[in-house]
Amino acid sequence: MNYNGIDFDTYFKHYPDENGYFGKYGGAYIPDELKAAMNEITEAYFTICKSAKFISELRRIRKEFQGRPTPISHLERLSGKLGNVQLYVKREDLNHTGAHKLNHCMGEALLAKYMGKKKVIAETGAGQHGVALATAAAYFGLECDIYMGSVDIKKQAPNVARMKILGANVVEVTHGLATLKEAVDAAFDAYAKEYKDSIYCIGSVLGPHPFPMMVRDFQSVVGIEAREQFLEMTGELPDAIVACVGGGSNAAGFFSGFLNDPVDIYGVEPLGRGPKLGDHAASLKYGTEGVMHGFNSIMLKDENGEPAPVYSVASGLDYPSSGPEHAFLHDLGRVNYDVVDDEETINAFFTLSKTEGIIPAIESSHAVAYAIKLAEKMGKGSILINLSGRGDKDMDYVIENYGIR
Ligand SMILES: *Cc1c(COP(=O)(O)O)cnc(C)c1O
Repeated sequence: MNYNGIDFDTYFKHYPDENGYFGKYGGAYIPDELKAAMNEITEAYFTICKSAKFISELRRIRKEFQGRPTPISHLERLSGKLGNVQLYVKREDLNHTGAHKLNHCMGEALLAKYMGKKKVIAETGAGQHGVALATAAAYFGLECDIYMGSVDIKKQAPNVARMKILGANVVEVTHGLATLKEAVDAAFDAYAKEYKDSIYCIGSVLGPHPFPMMVRDFQSVVGIEAREQFLEMTGELPDAIVACVGGGSNAAGFFSGFLNDPVDIYGVEPLGRGPKLGDHAASLKYGTEGVMHGFNSIMLKDENGEPAPVYSVASGLDYPSSGPEHAFLHDLGRVNYDVVDDEETINAFFTLSKTEGIIPAIESSHAVAYAIKLAEKMGKGSILINLSGRGDKDMDYVIENYGIR
């Protein structure tokens, strides 16, 4: 399929290019001491990850440990309430550990094993990535250092406990604002010193090349499964697909299965409390081109051109940029990026829980909220939502701040 001059039949061969660019976005803007480490990962990725042995081991792990394939569920009661549009969800909430993040963490940790590394290193904000990576490290018997700001350590006690129980070493980062940004810097500093024995495992389709490509490829299992399952279930493709976008990993993997199809694709960003800078994390909608954390993309900047403070009710979505591939698909117009706010999101959280018996993560509730509005607009047809995770982690927070609706 040709779309605005891009041939999607051969898209994955050409995007990203050999330097990690999706059009003008992506690349690797890193200090010299990290270049050797990134080149080592890129080379390993292109040899090891394409080998039959690696692929068959990853397939076996996905089936026997992660519980893949995850099913698609038809939301019959919710669809009935909304009218003539049929809604479906791809159940990444049923993946082991309760979200899609394990898809790329198992891939990255398996790569570490094949490269002979002893340790995986990462940063975490809300702790979800740290828990997924600690799980993968335990599975493969690797050491695991998770850098986390002291502010986040206080806020996210259950995830800190989970990481420790799984055997990870949670390294407290105390400088600056002591949140995600400082944790990223500290983790990269440590990695530059330790890269001979370790590998950095990023939490989304972010960071310098090859991470946006590698994480998308590991997540593409979601899109491949979803396309096949939906065809088998209904005999046709969905008219529209929807996923939430923070860094953009669940969306990138899910979308990849449908980019070459006549399917409308929607990425949903968090509008938080509203469109004022600082009240949301809708980087693709309100941001401009810029470089941060080692890659060029569309980002939210403050008056000094630095990453702006961001907010969302979903802690997994509050990042001031999105992966370079999303910036590319945004400019191209192949994916429509739009927003829903906190209020709509919390309503969708309760609607899906009460109507279907599925408690979604607040991140995923953004996609559900958007799909409900889209269904009203479409009037007929079908929508497939990527339900990136389950909401157990969010229940206390929702009840405390919003009560039961
Ligand atoms: C972390 C997280 C997200 C956001 O990450 P992406 O890289 O944008 O997918 C979305 N949903 C859940 C459940 C998460 O844990």
